[in-house]
Amino acid sequence: MPGPVAPLLSVVMPIYNEQDALPLTVQRLRPILDGLGESYEVVGVNDGSSDHTAVVLAGLQQQWPELRVIQLRRNSGHQAALTAGLHRAYGEYVVSIDADLQDPPEKIVDMLALARDEGYDIVQGVRDDRSSDTVFKRGTAAGYYWLMRRMVGRSIPKHAGDYRLLSRAAVDALKSLPETQPVYRLLVPWLGFRSTEVTFQREERVAGTTKYPLSKMVRLAVDSITNFSAAPLRLATWLGLGSFVLAFLLAAYSTVEHLVGRTTPGWSSLFIGIVFFGGVQLVCVGLLGEYVGRIYSAVQGRPSYFIGSDSAEQSRATIGATGIAVEEITRPHPAQVG
Ligand code: UDP
Ligand code: MG
Repeated sequence: MPGPVAPLLSVVMPIYNEQDALPLTVQRLRPILDGLGESYEVVGVNDGSSDHTAVVLAGLQQQWPELRVIQLRRNSGHQAALTAGLHRAYGEYVVSIDADLQDPPEKIVDMLALARDEGYDIVQGVRDDRSSDTVFKRGTAAGYYWLMRRMVGRSIPKHAGDYRLLSRAAVDALKSLPETQPVYRLLVPWLGFRSTEVTFQREERVAGTTKYPLSKMVRLAVDSITNFSAAPLRLATWLGLGSFVLAFLLAAYSTVEHLVGRTTPGWSSLFIGIVFFGGVQLVCVGLLGEYVGRIYSAVQGRPSYFIGSDSAEQSRATIGATGIAVEEITRPHPAQVG
């Protein structure tokens, strides 16, 4: 039974219409967590399921006191459910995992060992094999990670989903972000905490069907791109510059044609004019885009840095990600909060 202090581990699990998968997931997850011999809680976030997930969860909760259930009022999406769970988890370490057993829970043991013994703040689960996914899923995922690594940076691990361990400091850093539509697979590497990876084979979904239809995948991709970059806005600038170069080449071409006398009168000037002013317009739109981009990132209000440590504060046991000392392990336990 968990004691009156914060548990060592929280396992956050977003759940949407998983009535069939849940009992199987719990069956496999519980022995692993019990076997740790440490205090833990499982934070099941019911993301407004429309099937019998709530009933199933209530039943499971009766037999498993460490299972905590958070109900969202409506379906808010995987990342939002994850946010709710991360913000409310009490553990010193927080693992996020899917509810369909595609992320093998056995890896939690390795993740926790890496974090505790070697002091990593982030242990990212990385899929080394996606053969259980459909060709379509693999194709879109490959495209997504290729684009993200190009736009956000190389620090984004390939095939890294939302199976990962975060230390309390990393969770607090994430909590301090004013994001409204966080995309954790991009935000977490961006934090810059000491991190490592654990590879795993992505298994077949244990029951039910994917809760990520194409519309949600597109949503995630759009959130990912706009979250981290003004690249789409900048596109206009590049197109504009491109058409300037083109205008220059075409001007040379049409002048030659004009001199040789192969053109109808008026064609050259008209043609150069169209290309040139097209370029001017695009560059202007691009300029606006640059400013809108800056306004956007200012509105996002992300801190420009996170303090790792400060030698003046080294004596303190726990240092918060933003430099503020975190209260020692006195966060109330779920049992006390009710
Ligand atoms: N999920 C959620 N809300 C949603 C969609 C999905 O909480 O709107 C959960 C789902 O129950 C699962 C996890 O997010 O635990 C990943 O979803 P899924 O397995 O359907 O995605 P896939 O593995 O097919 O990419
Ligand atoms: Mg899945």
